[in-house]
Amino acid sequence: MKKILVTGGAGFLGSHLCERLLERGDDVVCADNFFTGQRRNIAHLMSNPYFEVLRHDITFPLYVEVDEIYNLACPASPVHYQFDPVQTTKTSVIGAINMLGLAKRTKAKILQASTSEIYGDPEVHPQTEGYWGRVNVQGPRACYDEGKRCAETLFFDYHRQHKLKIKVMRIFNTYGPRMHPNDGRVVSNFIVQALRGEPITLYGSGEQTRSFCYVDDLIDGMIRLMDSPDDVTGPVNIGNPVEFTMRELAEKVILLTGAGSELVNRPLPADDPRQRQPDISLARSVLGWQPSVPLEDGLARTINYFREVLAL
Ligand code: NAD
Ligand code: UDP
Ligand code: UDP
Repeated sequence: MKKILVTGGAGFLGSHLCERLLERGDDVVCADNFFTGQRRNIAHLMSNPYFEVLRHDITFPLYVEVDEIYNLACPASPVHYQFDPVQTTKTSVIGAINMLGLAKRTKAKILQASTSEIYGDPEVHPQTEGYWGRVNVQGPRACYDEGKRCAETLFFDYHRQHKLKIKVMRIFNTYGPRMHPNDGRVVSNFIVQALRGEPITLYGSGEQTRSFCYVDDLIDGMIRLMDSPDDVTGPVNIGNPVEFTMRELAEKVILLTGAGSELVNRPLPADDPRQRQPDISLARSVLGWQPSVPLEDGLARTINYFREVLAL
């Protein structure tokens, strides 16, 4: 039985990961400061004797004995990561140093939840791992983007300097049950607005694109990367390459919820990337991974989840 630390384990992705690792028979320690995480996400795991929760902020040192670390702690939605930008950078940078220090001492293998935001507003489309990105270093998204970029630097330096076993995963937009209803991300916003019969807020023209991966596919890719041979360090893109405009997404949500919502335009936030689509050739070849849940199916499951949450 492996002992596995999941930082950010009470969040959207982290809670699904904890669940899957427990199902597989691992011993899981979840460390979370509950900034955006919710008890509700992990309530169903609390009776499992192999699940343990630590209220902990990873910008402070953590001493536990583990075999593997999944470092997911960091607010992921622009609304939340811009709420306290200094704390966001600290979480990515100081948090990474602490988790890498922990991995160094315990000789644990460590995976970093990096992001497609590394690529900024990209000139290369779709994005390959070799593309260095175009990020505004001073903009309102920089606390997240540059924090995550620095974390990647730290991972590769600990790998070269201290021979750590690292895995760097570049996650593209992911959606599914347990997204926070007030998260501010587009999928949760559109579904919650549609279910409440409120207008759907389209930022800018709505012609900007994203590619959405259902959470189950994403977690499958994450575990495959952790379990891959040691020479597979990444970075590896994990996401669904099927690309949509935000207007198309709004129309799908209206169709699937049967809502009577109208579309309203709101200003486009600063530095909002115009297009995003992962090139997943590397994940296909080294991990044998590709997503399998189509957007309509994933959205239907997510809509069901929000129906239950909003009925509470
Ligand atoms: P989330 O906000 O639901 O989860 C993040 C978790 O980290 C929360 O439980 C939060 O309380 C916790 N946290 C934040 N700061 C912390 C700190 N200093 N110490 C301890 N815990 C802390 O977001 P998510 O969507 O589950 O994202 C998880 C990870 O995946 C993040 O690192 C994010 O950057 C990355 N990611 C997610 C997406 C996506 O589309 N969901 C895309 C790219 C990257
Ligand atoms: N660290 C931690 N848990 C551990 C070991 C280290 O949180 O089990 C932290 C420690 O606080 C340190 C950081 O990780 O600041 C980096 O550790 P490293 O060994 O790389 O550096 P050093 O201790 O030499 O500064
Ligand atoms: N967006 C939107 N309406 C909303 C929330 C977001 O049109 O209510 C847009 C946003 O401007 C961006 C896209 O949807 O172009 C994805 O936004 P999200 O915050 O989900 O993710 P990210 O920008 O980090 O990829």
